[in-house]
Amino acid sequence: MKITYYGTAAAEGIPGLFCKCRVCENARKVKGKEIKTRSQALIDDKILIDFPADTYMHALNHGLPLEDIHTCIVTHSHMDHLYERELWCRNPGIGNNIPEIPLDMYLTRSGYEMATERCKTDGVPESRVRCHLVEEFKPFTAEGYTITPLRADHGPQTTPVFYIIEKDGKAVLYSNDTGTYPEITVEYLKSCGKHFDLVSFDCTNVFLDYRGNHMGIKENAEVKEMLIKWGLCDDKTIFVVNHFSHNGGATHEELCEKAKEYGFVVSYDGLSIEF
Ligand SMILES: [Zn+2]
Ligand SMILES: [Zn+2]
Ligand SMILES: [Zn+2]
Repeated sequence: MKITYYGTAAAEGIPGLFCKCRVCENARKVKGKEIKTRSQALIDDKILIDFPADTYMHALNHGLPLEDIHTCIVTHSHMDHLYERELWCRNPGIGNNIPEIPLDMYLTRSGYEMATERCKTDGVPESRVRCHLVEEFKPFTAEGYTITPLRADHGPQTTPVFYIIEKDGKAVLYSNDTGTYPEITVEYLKSCGKHFDLVSFDCTNVFLDYRGNHMGIKENAEVKEMLIKWGLCDDKTIFVVNHFSHNGGATHEELCEKAKEYGFVVSYDGLSIEF
C-alpha cells in the first residue's frame, strides 16, 4: 500500500492567507516543506481523501493524477476538505477527452447534501460525478478497498468521520479532523480486531495542549499508546502526524525535531510512504 500526502495544513494553510505570524513568515522565506496546503491524501494512486480548493494546485505542483482518479472519500464538509464547486469542471464540454467513468464521491450527510445540490445547480450529469451517502460504522467497498467511516470529535454540523481503508491484508487509519476519538469510536476500535500498518493523526494544535475538535502532538502520543494497548498497532506501525495549523507554534523543522522523541513521521506536501 502507498499513501501520498498532497496537502498537510489546517484550513488556513501555511503560510495563512493573511497571516504574518512567525511560522507563516518563516514559511514564506524558507519555502520547501515549510509551505503546507489544505488537506488531501491519496491511497495507491486510487482512493483520494478529501477534495479541498487546493486540489487544483496539487495536480499542478505535485502531480496528483486527477484525470485517472475515480474515487474520492470525504471526511467532512469544512471547506478545507470539500470544495464542491470545483466538481463543475467535470461537466462535458469543460472536462474534455476524459473516460466516461464517473468520479464517485463518498460523503456523510452534510457534504452529501452540499455536493448533490451543487451538481444539480451546475448540471453535472451522473455519468461524470456520482455522490454516495455513507454512514458511520457502515463499511463500504470501492475499487476493491474496504472503507469504514468512524465518528470523529469535530464540528458536528459537518457530520465528521475519519476512515479505515483496507486491502489485501493492509490497513490505514486516516484520522483527521478529530480530537481524541469519541467513546463510540473507541468501542468500535477496541473490538474490531484489525491491525493498522499506518496511522495518520490530526496534529492541528501541534505544541499547544488545547483539547477537543483537533489534537496536538501530546494527544497524538496518548492515542498512539492506546492503539498499541488495544492491540491495533505494534512496533511495525508507522505513525504520521498531519494537518498542521500555524497557530500550533512550530515550523516544520522544529516539529521534526520534537517528533523524533515520539517516533512520529511529520507529513509534508508531496510525502509518499510505501508499507
Ligand atoms: Zn481541516
Ligand atoms: Zn500565521
Ligand atoms: Zn474540519
